[in-house]
Amino acid sequence: MQTLYSLIGGKSVSDSGQRRGKIFNPATGAQVREVALASKSEALDAVAAAAAALPAWASTPPMRRMRIMNDALSLLNKARPELAKMISEEHGKVLSDADGEVQRGLEVVEFCLGIPHLLKGEFSENVGTSIDVFSIRQPVGVCVGITPFNFPVMVPLWMFPVAIACGNTFVLKPSEKDSGSTQRLVEIFHEAGLPAGVLNLVQGDREAVETLITAPEVGAVSFVGSTPIAKSIYTTAAAHGKRCQALGGAKNHMLIMPDADLDAAVDALMGAGYGSAGERCMAISVAVAVGDVGDKLVEKLAPRVRALKVGPGNDPQAEMGPLVTREHADKVSSYVDQGVKEGAELVVDGRGLKLQGYEGGYFMGGTLFDKVKPDMTIYKEEIFGPVLSVVRAKDFGEGLNLVNSHQFGNGTAIFTQDGRVARSFLNACNIGMVGVNVPIPVPVAYHTFGGWKQSAFGDNGMHGPQGINFYTKLKTVTARWAGNAVGAEFTMPVLR
Ligand code: NAD
Repeated sequence: MQTLYSLIGGKSVSDSGQRRGKIFNPATGAQVREVALASKSEALDAVAAAAAALPAWASTPPMRRMRIMNDALSLLNKARPELAKMISEEHGKVLSDADGEVQRGLEVVEFCLGIPHLLKGEFSENVGTSIDVFSIRQPVGVCVGITPFNFPVMVPLWMFPVAIACGNTFVLKPSEKDSGSTQRLVEIFHEAGLPAGVLNLVQGDREAVETLITAPEVGAVSFVGSTPIAKSIYTTAAAHGKRCQALGGAKNHMLIMPDADLDAAVDALMGAGYGSAGERCMAISVAVAVGDVGDKLVEKLAPRVRALKVGPGNDPQAEMGPLVTREHADKVSSYVDQGVKEGAELVVDGRGLKLQGYEGGYFMGGTLFDKVKPDMTIYKEEIFGPVLSVVRAKDFGEGLNLVNSHQFGNGTAIFTQDGRVARSFLNACNIGMVGVNVPIPVPVAYHTFGGWKQSAFGDNGMHGPQGINFYTKLKTVTARWAGNAVGAEFTMPVLR
């Protein structure tokens, strides 16, 4: 069985500590790889390798950094099927969805190909007599990225290509649940000619994270994962003087207005609620039925949820795969128990699903609750599974209030044919990413991805303009090369 080791300074570190993690194929329950969990000293070695590579990389002209990106992009395009297969095998999502994940990640690399343009500063000529002011964007230094299990290729690609294109060096710590594809991704960047130490991979868990986010050489920390960990990473990193962007969990609501195209809304809810078994931070987990639309909506949804094709990720007929681990499947199932106990109406029950030939897999069928109330646990907390809750709202105002009162603020959507209603919604909701007749409004790579409220800590999101902002420090220069000597001035300098 393959053991995944950290890649530090361009080399595989096979003398890791004794601790080992297990990676399973969630469709069968069989272990497929083991991961050598990095010790504290190994994590520090990765930081040291990144620090050693920094001066040469930071002074490499952006155009040359970009050429390596370009070569990486070609290799990644060729490796797409291989990466998708690994994602599907370790995460469980269906192959077509895994391929979509790789595609969305590659788009960030494509965005980075324009980096010389994005790093251009500003220039103001003659702000005072013979004085010019200009600003330049310089790399932050050694950056750390910590990523979740649900996008083992796409979320790392939100971070390190942008960071290294800006001249930083990087240490990536992926989720220990499914880091095989992440390892392959990092290898590909090395095959493209990335110098040793510019991108380091630490295979590890909490111990590695705690070391990385407090290491003195680290300048910036990017995190994506659950809210409690995001909050603690943000607090600790900030207390150690680092800039930090920490994206957390979600509970994305979709408002279905009485005038919405109901068939389109049902299609959208099926894909956004049950795609990737609901293990997406932009999944729709709450359908807010506004006005009298509730009964019709549930009537149309229920047979579709019952008919969901659940199967292993490599079955081309499957629409939804298993959950990532046995523990996670049990946790999602126990949320369903809790919903029933608290009085929600269980319309479709996906608990206890067994598939012939895959008895050891972590499967669960699509689950649909109706008449969910805001004080129920299944409404308040992120379930991160194939469980959709329908909440009834008497009018638009009540629906909007639900969205705005929830602790999370990652994504939301409205389905309506009325432009004025859509405009009021997108203007008044306190959510980071909004869809109008689009259920999963994940921004393209040249815009910024990021939530509000408990879904994100820090003031810069991933990729797009804020990604560049996060991974660069702005330096502003005021220069005089000519003109009369002014003599000693004891007042605040005033430009004349
Ligand atoms: P997680 O928080 O359990 O783990 C994320 C990372 O943190 C992993 O690398 C893990 O090893 C590390 N980690 C876990 N516990 C830690 C601890 N105590 N101290 C330090 N590090 C620790 O998240 P997950 O289960 O891998 O991913 C699912 C979560 O990620 C969901 O909540 C989902 O909404 C969220 N997510 C958010 C976004 C977003 O953009 N907002 C995107 C994807 C996933």
